[in-house]
Amino acid sequence: MDSVLVSACLRGVPCRYDGRDKASPRLAEAVAGREVVSFCPEAAGGLPTPRRPAELVGGDGHDVLDGTARVVEDTGRDVTAAFVAGARRALAAARHGGCTEALMMPRSPSCGRGAVYDGSFGGQLVAGDGVTAALLERNGIAVRNAPGV
Ligand code: SF4
Repeated sequence: MDSVLVSACLRGVPCRYDGRDKASPRLAEAVAGREVVSFCPEAAGGLPTPRRPAELVGGDGHDVLDGTARVVEDTGRDVTAAFVAGARRALAAARHGGCTEALMMPRSPSCGRGAVYDGSFGGQLVAGDGVTAALLERNGIAVRNAPGV
Protein backbone atom coordinates (compact mmCIF):
# COMPACT_ATOMS: atom_id res chain seq x y z
CA MET A 1 0.00 0.00 0.00
CA ASP A 2 1.13 3.53 -0.72
CA SER A 3 2.47 5.25 2.41
CA VAL A 4 2.66 8.88 3.51
CA LEU A 5 4.68 10.50 6.30
CA VAL A 6 2.59 12.93 8.38
CA SER A 7 3.63 15.46 11.04
CA ALA A 8 2.51 13.83 14.28
CA CYS A 9 0.88 17.01 15.62
CA LEU A 10 -1.53 16.97 12.67
CA ARG A 11 -2.82 13.59 13.85
CA GLY A 12 -3.63 14.88 17.32
CA VAL A 13 -0.37 14.12 19.10
CA PRO A 14 0.30 16.99 21.58
CA CYS A 15 3.96 17.34 20.59
CA ARG A 16 4.08 21.01 19.57
CA TYR A 17 6.38 23.43 21.37
CA ASP A 18 3.40 24.66 23.42
CA GLY A 19 2.36 21.14 24.43
CA ARG A 20 -0.67 21.15 22.15
CA ASP A 21 -1.61 19.36 18.95
CA LYS A 22 -2.65 20.82 15.60
CA ALA A 23 -5.16 18.23 14.48
CA SER A 24 -6.32 18.87 10.94
CA PRO A 25 -9.98 18.20 10.20
CA ARG A 26 -9.09 17.67 6.54
CA LEU A 27 -6.26 15.22 7.11
CA ALA A 28 -8.34 12.05 6.88
CA GLU A 29 -9.48 12.99 3.40
CA ALA A 30 -5.92 13.87 2.34
CA VAL A 31 -4.49 10.49 3.38
CA ALA A 32 -7.46 8.30 2.45
CA GLY A 33 -6.46 4.86 1.24
CA ARG A 34 -2.83 5.22 2.30
CA GLU A 35 -0.81 3.93 5.19
CA VAL A 36 0.19 6.79 7.52
CA VAL A 37 3.54 7.06 9.29
CA SER A 38 3.23 9.71 12.04
CA PHE A 39 6.44 11.40 13.08
CA CYS A 40 7.59 14.42 15.12
CA PRO A 41 11.14 15.39 14.16
CA GLU A 42 11.69 17.74 17.08
CA ALA A 43 10.70 15.13 19.66
CA ALA A 44 12.78 12.54 17.80
CA GLY A 45 15.73 14.92 17.91
CA GLY A 46 15.60 14.86 21.69
CA LEU A 47 13.78 18.09 22.46
CA PRO A 48 11.25 18.12 25.32
CA THR A 49 7.56 19.01 25.10
CA PRO A 50 6.70 21.70 25.90
CA ARG A 51 9.78 23.57 24.70
CA ARG A 52 10.73 27.11 23.75
CA PRO A 53 9.68 28.24 20.24
CA ALA A 54 12.47 28.04 17.69
CA GLU A 55 13.08 29.72 14.34
CA LEU A 56 15.58 29.48 11.50
CA VAL A 57 18.27 32.16 11.53
CA GLY A 58 20.50 33.00 8.57
CA GLY A 59 18.60 30.96 5.99
CA ASP A 60 16.14 28.08 5.68
CA GLY A 61 16.34 24.35 6.32
CA HIS A 62 18.49 23.77 3.24
CA ASP A 63 21.00 26.27 4.57
CA VAL A 64 20.94 24.56 7.96
CA LEU A 65 21.76 21.24 6.26
CA ASP A 66 24.59 23.00 4.41
CA GLY A 67 25.93 24.44 7.65
CA THR A 68 25.29 28.10 6.82
CA ALA A 69 22.20 28.74 8.99
CA ARG A 70 21.13 27.81 12.50
CA VAL A 71 18.02 26.99 14.51
CA VAL A 72 17.67 29.02 17.69
CA GLU A 73 15.11 29.24 20.46
CA ASP A 74 13.67 32.57 21.54
CA THR A 75 16.10 32.46 24.44
CA GLY A 76 19.01 32.40 21.97
CA ARG A 77 19.87 28.77 22.66
CA ASP A 78 21.19 26.98 19.58
CA VAL A 79 19.18 23.82 18.87
CA THR A 80 20.52 23.17 15.36
CA ALA A 81 21.96 19.76 16.22
CA ALA A 82 18.65 18.50 17.62
CA PHE A 83 16.75 19.70 14.54
CA VAL A 84 19.20 18.03 12.17
CA ALA A 85 19.13 14.80 14.19
CA GLY A 86 15.33 14.83 14.10
CA ALA A 87 15.33 15.41 10.36
CA ARG A 88 17.61 12.43 9.81
CA ARG A 89 15.36 10.24 11.92
CA ALA A 90 12.32 11.45 9.98
CA LEU A 91 14.02 10.50 6.72
CA ALA A 92 14.85 7.07 8.15
CA ALA A 93 11.23 6.59 9.25
CA ALA A 94 9.96 7.65 5.82
CA ARG A 95 12.28 5.23 4.07
CA HIS A 96 11.46 2.43 6.47
CA GLY A 97 7.75 3.01 5.87
CA GLY A 98 8.12 3.23 2.11
CA CYS A 99 6.77 6.80 2.01
CA THR A 100 6.99 8.66 -1.29
CA GLU A 101 5.17 11.73 0.02
CA ALA A 102 5.05 13.75 3.24
CA LEU A 103 2.12 15.84 4.45
CA MET A 104 3.54 18.31 6.89
CA MET A 105 2.66 21.12 9.28
CA PRO A 106 2.91 24.49 7.48
CA ARG A 107 5.35 27.16 8.74
CA SER A 108 7.15 24.86 11.20
CA PRO A 109 10.95 25.28 11.35
CA SER A 110 11.10 21.48 10.98
CA CYS A 111 8.09 20.48 8.91
CA GLY A 112 7.07 23.60 6.94
CA ARG A 113 7.29 23.71 3.16
CA GLY A 114 7.68 26.90 1.14
CA ALA A 115 7.37 29.39 3.99
CA VAL A 116 8.96 29.63 7.44
CA TYR A 117 9.29 32.34 10.08
CA ASP A 118 12.19 34.71 9.51
CA GLY A 119 14.07 34.27 12.76
CA SER A 120 12.90 37.52 14.36
CA PHE A 121 10.12 35.90 16.44
CA GLY A 122 7.91 38.68 15.13
CA GLY A 123 5.53 36.51 13.12
CA GLN A 124 7.05 37.39 9.74
CA LEU A 125 7.19 34.65 7.10
CA VAL A 126 9.85 34.26 4.42
CA ALA A 127 10.22 31.80 1.56
CA GLY A 128 11.96 28.57 2.54
CA ASP A 129 11.62 25.07 3.94
CA GLY A 130 11.97 23.66 7.43
CA VAL A 131 14.92 21.40 8.20
CA THR A 132 13.05 18.10 7.91
CA ALA A 133 11.10 19.25 4.85
CA ALA A 134 14.39 20.19 3.18
CA LEU A 135 16.04 16.83 3.94
CA LEU A 136 13.02 14.87 2.73
CA GLU A 137 12.88 16.88 -0.49
CA ARG A 138 16.59 16.34 -1.08
CA ASN A 139 16.02 12.63 -0.83
CA GLY A 140 13.18 12.37 -3.30
CA ILE A 141 10.20 12.51 -0.96
CA ALA A 142 7.59 15.01 -2.15
CA VAL A 143 6.69 17.35 0.72
CA ARG A 144 3.35 19.14 0.82
CA ASN A 145 1.81 21.33 3.48
CA ALA A 146 -1.22 19.64 5.00
CA PRO A 147 -4.61 21.23 4.29
CA GLY A 148 -6.84 22.68 6.95
CA VAL A 149 -4.25 24.13 9.35
FE1 SF4 B 1 4.46 19.03 14.54
FE2 SF4 B 1 6.67 18.86 13.06
FE3 SF4 B 1 6.57 20.59 15.10
FE4 SF4 B 1 6.66 17.97 15.60
S1 SF4 B 1 8.26 19.16 14.62
S2 SF4 B 1 5.30 19.45 16.60
S3 SF4 B 1 5.46 17.13 13.92
S4 SF4 B 1 5.32 20.64 13.25
